[in-house]
Amino acid sequence: MSRMWNPMLETMDRAELRSLQVDRFREQVRHAYEHSPFYRRKLDAAGIDPDDIRTYEDVREVPTTKKGELREAQGGEPFPYGDLLAASPEEVTEYHQTSGTTGEPVRQADSWGDWEWWGDCWATVLWAQGIRPDDRVFFPFSYNVFVAFWAAHYACERIGAEVVPGGNLSSAQRVRKMREVDVTAFASTPTYALRLAEVAREEGFEPTDFAVDTVVCAGEPGASVPGTKARIEEAWGADVYDHAGATEAGAWGFSCDGESVGLHLNEGQFLIEVLDEDGEPVEPGETGEIVITPLNRTAQPYIRFELRDEIGLRESAAVCDCGRTFRFAEGGVLGRLDDLTKVNGVLLAPTAIEDVVRSYDGVSDEYEVIIDGHEEKPDLDVVTVVAEENPETGVPASEAGDELRKRLKQTTSITCRVDVVAYESLDRPELKADRLDDRRENHV
Ligand SMILES: [Zn+2]
Repeated sequence: MSRMWNPMLETMDRAELRSLQVDRFREQVRHAYEHSPFYRRKLDAAGIDPDDIRTYEDVREVPTTKKGELREAQGGEPFPYGDLLAASPEEVTEYHQTSGTTGEPVRQADSWGDWEWWGDCWATVLWAQGIRPDDRVFFPFSYNVFVAFWAAHYACERIGAEVVPGGNLSSAQRVRKMREVDVTAFASTPTYALRLAEVAREEGFEPTDFAVDTVVCAGEPGASVPGTKARIEEAWGADVYDHAGATEAGAWGFSCDGESVGLHLNEGQFLIEVLDEDGEPVEPGETGEIVITPLNRTAQPYIRFELRDEIGLRESAAVCDCGRTFRFAEGGVLGRLDDLTKVNGVLLAPTAIEDVVRSYDGVSDEYEVIIDGHEEKPDLDVVTVVAEENPETGVPASEAGDELRKRLKQTTSITCRVDVVAYESLDRPELKADRLDDRRENHV
């Protein structure tokens, strides 16, 4: 069966796709200009007339939008979206907000039309990953104001799959529910997928005996980190897929059933630019920052939004072995630019530590990273990785610590302190895991 939700878009000739994107981008800018005072000011100041946007080069003349500008606009009238809103309040049907891990949350208004669009974006993800009408999909979360799982839930309904909502239950109750009704798939953060497998074993089940054959990961980049992906696959005996999205952008990336580990960019619903430090597009094989414009999103549009996610484009520009012409980010989201930090002058990406820890079975799935100044030499940064003993392999803590220190040095070029503590000493977060604790005083 075809694994494409919209085969026409997903296999479109690239030149044709680019021209379609530019047309939709122009419509999006025109809509923002006509309905959002925030964008009208911004575009007027830059001397942009939406009708003049004809080529990809014209797109790049349009100013980018930064997260700080959104917060500032929402601090003003009218409450609660400020003059960012490009719809009448009557048209708004959905309220969500960002998690606020990097500052004040941004509020997100969507109309019913936008919500249909969200469903379509997520259906593209789920269909590519094999979710079908005969699936029974479990959502082990209380979704609250965070958009991702609501949108995934709605997309399952669009596909015709059966949804089992698992909010407001303990992890043990969730595992029992999954077993009781034989769910065939579930969606969660990679961290929580591993946690549920642990809880299943504590409850006397073997997770690989469950009917689960698909795990869809979201919220953290783990399912594109080979070490983490392998751990989840092994724990559940299931295919593990990645998704990337943001409240302000939408569900913009998804892994396919091709050979490579990473994410396709959903270029049917987004204009995604991958730019270097000077704002120039990078070539295949290079890494860059995403600047994204959701196409066909009306109530609160984003024009060239600086997502702050770093990705690396696959070297080969050839069509993926899944048949899609959409570009591919090898290894998924390599890091949030806000998370990349310098340690003694060396750039450290948190996903690099994750891959080292999760690729070594001498420690458990959970870990934490603390960066602090040296006790006696405050100018010197000290990175401490706290990991847990793995009861399954029984490697002694001291031996596991030495091995992990050696592997971290090889991969990150940073000499870390490693502290291996007893199994289950660390917290298991359900939603986004914030594993990096930067305690340096001068750190901004
Ligand atoms: Zn593919």
